[in-house]
Amino acid sequence: MNLIFLGPPGAGKGTQAKVLEEKFGYRQISTGDILRRHVAEGTPLGVEAKGYMSRGDLVPDELILRMMDGELEQSSDVILDGFPRNVAQATALDELLARKKRNAVAVLFDVDRDVLTDRLTGRWTHPGSGRTYHAKNNPPKVPEIDDVTGEPLVQRPDDAEETVKNRLAVYDEQTAPLIAYYDDPGDSRLARVDALAPIEKVSRQLIDFVRSHPNGAA
Ligand code: ADP
Ligand code: ADP
Repeated sequence: MNLIFLGPPGAGKGTQAKVLEEKFGYRQISTGDILRRHVAEGTPLGVEAKGYMSRGDLVPDELILRMMDGELEQSSDVILDGFPRNVAQATALDELLARKKRNAVAVLFDVDRDVLTDRLTGRWTHPGSGRTYHAKNNPPKVPEIDDVTGEPLVQRPDDAEETVKNRLAVYDEQTAPLIAYYDDPGDSRLARVDALAPIEKVSRQLIDFVRSHPNGAA
């Protein structure tokens, strides 16, 4: 079973994708991490995507869909983290899944708006792996240093408060409609977790969810 992590920036999707990767062998596909690697390497896609990302706007669908092409080729179960971000991407994903005879369940990270700015402005990221920490909620052992590699952590420029405002507005306008898209009353493909809970409690909910699903664990 493939999982689609749905929720606003700062809801904890990346943090939990890493937990499930470790626990069950899922493969996390984070479109944000892939895009940041393209930007860092200065590839043609990175050059095109950079401006959108620094403003907190969505990168055009055509670029994202081209980038995602092939990501579902391997047979391992995946966690889609940050994709789809709008209805056009969700429709394209459904077509892709049908072609590959694969299915997916969306998991909504339910969270109150007022914690998100604090989570994002306090977020420290390890660029090489996409691992994240939080200055207060989940600090690294040594401040500003990745626990695993010993490399420096960075604060993403788009986690600055001004850009966060736009990212949340973009979420409301373009991504939140996916909740109704997946929660079709006749055929719901949406599960929810309480993402306001501490990190370990959110992990517990997700682990229970995966275990309770036939063929859940990857
Ligand atoms: P997303 O991938 O949804 O944007 P992240 O997983 O990167 O979110 O989490 C955003 C920030 O909030 C990080 O600094 C992370 O350490 C912290 N965080 C994640 N989950 C929780 C939680 N349940 N409670 C408190 N802080 C959290
Ligand atoms: P977060 O989890 O904190 O919201 P991401 O790392 O998923 O952030 O995304 C960072 C930026 O990368 C977005 O603001 C957007 O510019 C771009 N991006 C990531 N995924 C997509 C996508 N599926 N479609 C369009 N743009 C995307």
